[in-house]
Amino acid sequence: MSAQVIDGIAVANLILSDTAARAAQFAEANGRKPCLATVLVGDDPASHTYVRMKTNRCRTVGLDSRRHQLPETATTADAVAVVSTTAADDTVDGILVQHPMPAQVDEQEVFEAITPAKDVDGVTGASFAAMALGHNGFSSCTPAGIMHLLDAYDVDPAGQRAVVVGRSPILGKPVGMLLLARDATVTYCHSKTVDLAGVVREADIVVAAVGRPELIMGSWIKPGAVVVDAGYNPGNVGDVEYATAAQRAGLITPVPGGVGPTTIAVLLAQTVKAAGTPRATRRSTK
Ligand code: NAP
Repeated sequence: MSAQVIDGIAVANLILSDTAARAAQFAEANGRKPCLATVLVGDDPASHTYVRMKTNRCRTVGLDSRRHQLPETATTADAVAVVSTTAADDTVDGILVQHPMPAQVDEQEVFEAITPAKDVDGVTGASFAAMALGHNGFSSCTPAGIMHLLDAYDVDPAGQRAVVVGRSPILGKPVGMLLLARDATVTYCHSKTVDLAGVVREADIVVAAVGRPELIMGSWIKPGAVVVDAGYNPGNVGDVEYATAAQRAGLITPVPGGVGPTTIAVLLAQTVKAAGTPRATRRSTK
């Protein structure tokens, strides 16, 4: 058996073409394009690449972007000041604070300077709570992108055993909650999990969100399972041993070209949604 490969680029393009149409409508009605502000602290080359990809994509979809760059030596207060000024700027609709930040910066304190109505990357405590409680708010982009992938391939999580490997606040934890909200039976695994192989073997849906190349062996995958690999490691390697897993899975995301493209698409879609939300009601984002 050989898995069907989930085409993340095609799914992202569907989200982006809808986003482009909405952005054009907004620009027509408001005399300006929706605007995403990015805040980047430090010299991490991967972070620079990610921000460049996001701002390039803004341009092709019809959004404006504004880049704020702080030096490697910036403090938490420096970053909070830039984010607060941006949050108060009425011509900015969404804010992306690129992470990871240098060690001396308290990342969550910087995130919390984003007003929830502009938290299009879904990183504030308010957004997390809204997602967990099923209230209006912006989702963390990668988890939301993963749900788009499942929907695009008619994977209904209801009643399925979903195993999420990883429990970070931006990825593992929220994707498990989104699967739970869709009636999956969810198990989280992490660095202290005993018998990871045994847990993964029982999964109908596996989400890998670790950041360890090929940690999840192909031989652990239950025949016919859905495998979503969010891991992105040097050399374009995911967290799943792809070649073997693809022989057993029913559906599988490639790395690259799986989860990554939908993350950016959701970020832009949420920025346009934020722009279209009337000022007076911006705390409610639906
Ligand atoms: P993170 O914050 O470092 O979290 C990693 C998680 O993996 C932690 O919960 C950790 O457990 C768990 N873990 C570590 N070693 C493990 C092991 N041996 N067995 C089981 N679990 C283990 O990472 P992240 O930010 O969530 O990112 C994870 C991966 O996704 C990275 O490769 C990142 O590049 C990628 N990513 C991709 C996108 C995208 O758009 N495609 C977006 C975000 C992240 P503990 O909690 O016990 O430490």
